[in-house]
Amino acid sequence: IVSLKDVHKSFGDFEVLKGISFDVKKGEVICIIGASGSGKSTLIRCINALTEINSGSIKVEGIEVNDPNLNKLELRKRVGMVFQQYNLFPHRTALQNIMMAPVQVLRQPKQEVEERAHALMRKVRLDGKEHAYPGELSGGQQQRVAIARSLAMNPEVMLFDEVTAALDPETVKEVLATIKELAQEGMTCMLVTHEMGFAKEVADHMYFTDNGVIVEDGPPAEFFANPKDERTKQFLGQIL
Ligand code: ATP
Ligand code: MG
Repeated sequence: IVSLKDVHKSFGDFEVLKGISFDVKKGEVICIIGASGSGKSTLIRCINALTEINSGSIKVEGIEVNDPNLNKLELRKRVGMVFQQYNLFPHRTALQNIMMAPVQVLRQPKQEVEERAHALMRKVRLDGKEHAYPGELSGGQQQRVAIARSLAMNPEVMLFDEVTAALDPETVKEVLATIKELAQEGMTCMLVTHEMGFAKEVADHMYFTDNGVIVEDGPPAEFFANPKDERTKQFLGQIL
């Protein structure tokens, strides 16, 4: 469903991605880990066309992301993204935040969207908070609204970039539980995360990036128990 071939990306003279290739199948959950600055966020942003690549190819369900005539709306209907900062609209309630894109961008009927938004609030276990403003919600609750907001577009793939990095330890769990449920329901997920225990549990495949390349990948059992690359060993040694 997502296919990357020899993706290169530079900011000025600085090459952040130096030839990244891998495929993600429908329903698969992949986790990307790696040191700060190794290009994880850049990679994720390229998949959603938030950042343009210099060469190589990224395809999402056959859509060539690098095509100059790319219809970004068609891409973003298929690819949901959640960031570390939830970026909810502060003057809109949780429900309104979820409804905004389907109503205003996709022009779907309001009533239908509202029903779906209620169902999504239940799904992320926030029923009862529909009319709360972001400022009245905890970080974890806001992040779950952000996830529901992405899901409201009915994406085929969800991208998560360190979505729990800014949260208190207690609320991290709720957000991870939401993601885990999604994964178990068969949503294709690409996660950048520092939560190794979680990655081990949910990932079908792990990737380790260093300096703009994937230096190691494999199924989590093998990846964590028996890393082969020195840099992976060192990184896992620090973090576990
Ligand atoms: P972290 O774990 O800290 O989030 P990361 O692996 O996500 O790190 P990126 O955010 O992808 O790393 O950044 C990779 C490199 O690219 C960094 O050196 C960063 O300074 C640089 N970079 C990222 N975005 C830009 C930009 N818009 N312009 C210039 N340089 C950038
Ligand atoms: Mg990052």
